[in-house]
Amino acid sequence: MKRNRIVKNKKEQAVIARARIEILYDLALDSLKKKDFILTKNSIIMMKKISKKNKISLKKYNWFFCKKCLVPYDADTTKYSTNRHTKTLNILCGNCGYTRKKPLNKV
Ligand SMILES: [Zn+2]
Repeated sequence: MKRNRIVKNKKEQAVIARARIEILYDLALDSLKKKDFILTKNSIIMMKKISKKNKISLKKYNWFFCKKCLVPYDADTTKYSTNRHTKTLNILCGNCGYTRKKPLNKV
């Protein structure tokens, strides 16, 4: 059986991919509110897959979830701290214990 390709244009495909990522992000937020963590994780995995395939950066959503275990940062389990020497914001994931550093802008 031959698969029908609806989208031929690559530009069009990128637009659809972006829309899908936005929908998945909304779904992840919604399921996070309902405390359905499996659905949240699955939607983040799908977001990553789509972004890889279509070469779309997830920079907008980069600080929404942990890079290592793909679980969104939760206010209850995640610990935030600042380092004055390195001028970074350290984010400790409550799920896997991985620390990420975000540089702080100079004031
Ligand atoms: Zn983690």
